[in-house]
Amino acid sequence: MLSYSGVRLGGKMNHTQPVIDTSPKVSDEIRKTTCYMCACRCGINVHMKEGKVAYIEGNRDHPVNKGVLCAKGSAGIMQVNAPSRLRSPLKRVGERGSGEFEEISWDEALEIASSRLAKVRADDPSKLAFFTGRDQSQSFTSFWAQGFGTPNYAAHGGFCSVNMAAAGIYTMGGAFWEFGQPDWDHTKMFMLFGVAEDHDSNPIKMGLGKLKKRGAKVVGVNPIRTGYNAVADEWVGITPGTDGLFITALIHELMKAGKIDLHYLAQYTNAPVLLDSDPASESYGLFLRDKDNKPLVIDLNSGKKVAFDKKGVKPDLNGSVRQAGITHTTVFHKMAETYMSPEHDAANVAEQCGVSEETIRRLAAELAHVAFEQEITLPIEWTDFRGEKHKEMTGRPVSFHAMRGISAHANGFQTCRALHILQIILGSVEVPGGFRFKPPYPKSFEIHPKPHYGYAPNQPLDGPHLGFTHGPEDLALKADGTAARIDKAFTWENPMSSHGLMHMVISNAHAGDPYKIDTLFMYMANMSWNSSMNTSGVMKMLTDKDENGDYVIPNIIYSDAYSSEMVSYADLVLPDATYLERHDCISLLDRPICEADGAADAIRWPVIEPDRDVRGFQSVLCDLGARLGLPNFTNEDGSQKFADYADYIVNHERKPGIGPLAGFRGDGSESGRGDVNPDQLDKYIENGGFFVEHINEDASYYKPWNTAYQEWAVKMGLFDAPSPYLFQLYVEPMRKFQLAAEGHGDRQPPEHLRERVRETMNPLPVWNNSTDKDYPIHALTQRPMAMYHSWGTQNAWLRQIHGVNPLYVPTKIWEQNDFKDGDWAKVSSPHGEITVPVAHQAALNENTIWTWNAIGKRKGAWALDEKAPEATKGFLLNHIIHELMPAKGDGMRWANSDPITGQAAWFDLKVAIEKVEAPAESKPNIPAQKSPVGKGPKNLTWKVGA
Ligand code: SF4
Repeated sequence: MLSYSGVRLGGKMNHTQPVIDTSPKVSDEIRKTTCYMCACRCGINVHMKEGKVAYIEGNRDHPVNKGVLCAKGSAGIMQVNAPSRLRSPLKRVGERGSGEFEEISWDEALEIASSRLAKVRADDPSKLAFFTGRDQSQSFTSFWAQGFGTPNYAAHGGFCSVNMAAAGIYTMGGAFWEFGQPDWDHTKMFMLFGVAEDHDSNPIKMGLGKLKKRGAKVVGVNPIRTGYNAVADEWVGITPGTDGLFITALIHELMKAGKIDLHYLAQYTNAPVLLDSDPASESYGLFLRDKDNKPLVIDLNSGKKVAFDKKGVKPDLNGSVRQAGITHTTVFHKMAETYMSPEHDAANVAEQCGVSEETIRRLAAELAHVAFEQEITLPIEWTDFRGEKHKEMTGRPVSFHAMRGISAHANGFQTCRALHILQIILGSVEVPGGFRFKPPYPKSFEIHPKPHYGYAPNQPLDGPHLGFTHGPEDLALKADGTAARIDKAFTWENPMSSHGLMHMVISNAHAGDPYKIDTLFMYMANMSWNSSMNTSGVMKMLTDKDENGDYVIPNIIYSDAYSSEMVSYADLVLPDATYLERHDCISLLDRPICEADGAADAIRWPVIEPDRDVRGFQSVLCDLGARLGLPNFTNEDGSQKFADYADYIVNHERKPGIGPLAGFRGDGSESGRGDVNPDQLDKYIENGGFFVEHINEDASYYKPWNTAYQEWAVKMGLFDAPSPYLFQLYVEPMRKFQLAAEGHGDRQPPEHLRERVRETMNPLPVWNNSTDKDYPIHALTQRPMAMYHSWGTQNAWLRQIHGVNPLYVPTKIWEQNDFKDGDWAKVSSPHGEITVPVAHQAALNENTIWTWNAIGKRKGAWALDEKAPEATKGFLLNHIIHELMPAKGDGMRWANSDPITGQAAWFDLKVAIEKVEAPAESKPNIPAQKSPVGKGPKNLTWKVGA
């Protein structure tokens, strides 16, 4: 409301100011829940008018976003009103892929699903492949799959960023991504590698704001200068896939200059651990251990070898000892040998990296200067795990962050490991000014589960599916040596595939390699479009029939909230509710929303009721689990155990006293551990949808070694007993796989993989070229800040920002091809070609082209008009990326994946480009599919409230 009391009377002005209502009431009621428009999971205030969503704003009290809201978050209102929302369960009536369905009741849908799945479970549970996409309920979906008994479960980590997660956990007991953060309040130099803008985006934006305000230097290492790199003080336009080479050159420079934190390395890492250094020995490269299996170090006080964690020990980085005729030297000695070698000198890597020798040396010097000349000290006393009391906390204020850009390469695991080594030698992890973990991390890989794959008819699996292998004995292999899992995770092809290989499931199931399946059951994964390599090939695999005229993949059940491209390939569609219409749990058992200073979790709850015949997928699994008689979803009398997902969230206990939500347990006053509280969800709603418990100051840094933190973590139920550990610069399990490849032990790789295992499983990261040398140009995709994964890719507001996705071309290639605005190009790879519109971008690595991912849509999908720019000019690079590499000399085709973790190597794509006549539409021009929800209206307008 605006009223003026300033009135001109007879030429005289009355200077009273206008009265402005700066906070007009915009709603009848505010409901506080959690955003689902990206993985940040910010707190949002949903303003309601007459029972409808009128407006979304950020929740100022929320630990993640403190009131900040991004364009995606506010556009959530269009997500819950999208014309593409599925309306009812669907049964396929036409050919698979045609999009022809009939609407059926939930009873019929659940009867169809449960009768088929009951037969599978009774016959051979491994015939069910259950894979979920970018949902945020993996601890729940894996619990369901475990109860069913199939070994074939994973979420989308394998095609997303398992390299980042696994490298972080194996090396430091925690990773970047949402699992840690720079110490935004103290860091003075911040380098970010390969970070797109769709993850952790509000916290990073807020953090960058803090750094800019304090004048801290931000360096962006990325082939493409957009987003965070555009606001960085320095942009390093590196050649894709060479980050590992660049990072090891920085390590070389720092080691050569002696600018490494020797105290930190000796106290908190395995640098002083003694290694068998005799190449003729059967245990060459393994740690020397005591009778309790603890790694040994030389104690500088006594000169004797002792367990690394003995009270008062001062580990010697240069120790050596001879035992049983074998010399043992330290990991640090091995590191010096490896990284001081001239091959890592800046002069020898500069050209390949596309970064000058001077820049590499200068950046190393700047890192060293900030770390060692500008160290900061906080007057906080703490006690370490060896019992030593410290009067203060000293920090090296350089910090790093990295995401999918360095991870989605076939050398991604080792590149991520190299970055962690760089952080660690600078002494800048878990110290003031450095990188900090968010609970439930840090946590050593040794206390994570190992993979489980033991199954039998009508029995639950023998343990959690995913985990961390410690050596060949943990591989998921059948007695005959073949893969136990359909995605071949945890095999010699990718021994440390901690998140599975979702991108290989359809092609393996189609090929019947390692075996055929009956039912492919997927959730929120657009596998016939932007979530698969070889998109056209996958469509064919999903529709191929055998000699009897039956589909090669016999049964496909799919759940999604929207009419995505994948829906038309399902035989049965289970329509999900949108994020404002259902319960969810952002859990410490899963992907929580913690900050470095505290543990936090949150819920979603139905702030509106669905206006369609849809159900939250997790509630459907509770029902399906009971119909199938899964032991973890039924009571003793056979009745349904969890009425719905909300009931599970409140009443499920993973261990006594530990459930999906850590807050308001017991009588409502307990946190972490405590009895089930039937009012827990109401308490969360009263509290704004979240719970947070802060860490005391004396536990806030040095967490892996800090007694106060370890005790707090036990109290919170993050682990059962204090579990301090050393950072693993040298990952011994990798050496165990190498030893097997060298001919040691009972379990050895097949001959065709022996050399690859030996070469790739290096326990100290070294770089290898992962890209095709025959094609000259690198081709990348990245997600825009304004758009997140599959389910959020079609939004009436956000498509105004990115309705088409040109192929961005750097100046050199632009001029070589004489491109002009409005031109089109043919882009070819060993696998195929696409024809697409081009645009010029100067701030780009000179040998790299790129585009935004998932803007292009298939005609008929997402309730879009067939002439929509997304369907006519938009395109995917996925068509020219194959899930298999070209045949080797022996005719074998290996997966286009990291050989250690199986991570999809999206960014290893190399192409050729040429100018072509502009076609009417981008190619390949995939035929339209029939939309099960019709087409959206031309104009989407409505008014909420009077
Ligand atoms: S950053 Fe992500 S979670 Fe936060 S408001 Fe934006 S879309 Fe929502």
